[in-house]
Amino acid sequence: MGADRLDDVSEFERTELEHAFQALGIPPFHARQIFRWVYRRGVDDFSSMTDLSRPLRERLAETFTISTPRVAHRDVSSDGTTKFLLELHDGKRIESVFIPDTPAQTFCVSTQVGCAMRCAFCLTGRMGMVRDLTAGEIAGQVRVLARELGLLDTSFNIVLMGMGEPLHNYDQTMKALRVLADRHGLAVTPRRVTLSTVGVLPALERLQGERFMPNLAVSLHATTEEMRDRLVPVNRKYGIADLIEACRRFPVSRRTRITFEYVLLAGVNDTPDDARRLVKLLSGVRAKVNLLPLNPAPGIPFERPSDARVNAFARTLSDKGLTVSVRKSRGRDIRAACGQLIVEGPAPSPAQRAAALMRD
Ligand code: SAH
Repeated sequence: MGADRLDDVSEFERTELEHAFQALGIPPFHARQIFRWVYRRGVDDFSSMTDLSRPLRERLAETFTISTPRVAHRDVSSDGTTKFLLELHDGKRIESVFIPDTPAQTFCVSTQVGCAMRCAFCLTGRMGMVRDLTAGEIAGQVRVLARELGLLDTSFNIVLMGMGEPLHNYDQTMKALRVLADRHGLAVTPRRVTLSTVGVLPALERLQGERFMPNLAVSLHATTEEMRDRLVPVNRKYGIADLIEACRRFPVSRRTRITFEYVLLAGVNDTPDDARRLVKLLSGVRAKVNLLPLNPAPGIPFERPSDARVNAFARTLSDKGLTVSVRKSRGRDIRAACGQLIVEGPAPSPAQRAAALMRD
């Protein structure tokens, strides 16, 4: 880190903080206290950490900072889903979503500002890739949302399904999960975390060796290479055949399965043939399927199929023994649903708005 910026506690795993303390001659057990303050109580200034001596608090404040994303805006949907617009230290903005009672409480967090994957039906892809989030910014979303919603003491699920492709920002994402799992912090266990990916194969192979193993969701969306090339451009590099093969080898524990997400686009990938091909493709994989009827948005050149069409597709899968769920869209009225997260450029200033009115 540059000499002009203090070391940022939010970017440290607890053991890293212990080592940093040791090097400074500070007893390492204080790292545990600080993790409790930061992650369990949502406190991010040293002066409020009353179980540390005053001289230690002062010394820490001279050496370290604890950065926290700032809540710039929040929207509450009629179904209770809450979308947070968060501002990072460099002014970049991301969105994170709280989804109540599904049946657990769930936080949907971002791993990048924008996304490089450019899936044809996803609004975030329209932004292009702006930058990776740091581990502290990924974990920070959970810390801020839990604090704002008064949920620091409850248990909740985390889905890496916000903006960005987690396996395209592998190291920071995995580090964030270790921080969130720390037993002196939020203690979120791996089985409460789901990582959703388009299937960046080298990273998927690497994930198999992780000690912290989240649940896996794979955004499949098509049953032929041609169609997936069109809908999920990364398929041109890592095709369906190799992706499914990697999933077949993926070490899922006895109780769990890989979720395959499949966005349904009217007249594009929702035919009876698609359903049959999907069954065949997934045979022998410990799989369940989550159907996502498209959440339409301006500028997205696809339509949502009728409920009858969605049900027929689901029926074909379940008749062949696949476990299927249809994702209920939450928060569509505030554009918080899947694929609807996008941060537009800065809002026009009052003067710009007035000028636009006069032109009309
Ligand atoms: N990049 C990761 C994480 C995003 S998760 C991934 O692609 O898996 C968001 C999920 O919502 C993905 O399955 C994505 O394909 C899906 N999605 C994107 N746009 C959507 C839309 N307009 N309607 C419904 N689902 C969408």
